[in-house]
Amino acid sequence: MTKCSRRNIFKLAGAGSLALLLPAVAMKNAGTAWAQDNALDPESPQAKALGYVAHFEDVDQAKWTRYQEGQICGNCQLAQGDVSADWMGCGIFPGKQVAREGWCNAWVARQG
Ligand code: SF4
Repeated sequence: MTKCSRRNIFKLAGAGSLALLLPAVAMKNAGTAWAQDNALDPESPQAKALGYVAHFEDVDQAKWTRYQEGQICGNCQLAQGDVSADWMGCGIFPGKQVAREGWCNAWVARQG
């Protein structure tokens, strides 16, 4: 017969908590990996055509004169998904993730 001591109960609770936590950690890391794997390459022809950069400080302001301070993917109307996240979707670049602090020449002020 198994002895059900307080120590055994705490051991089981600890193992159960870990079992619940591990899949959540794995899913979070999988999401990050997916975003990085699908990150829009600023050197790709589509990105270059619109002057996309992964950080607004890299905008060539002599070439892309529409750029104005404060414009980032995170406040662009065309951004999709969680715009407070580091990476997000974009209606201009389907299947790719753009950086929250990125920018391209198609930037449109986000409404609301
Ligand atoms: S359209 Fe908007 S969200 Fe998409 S890359 Fe350009 S600035 Fe970023």
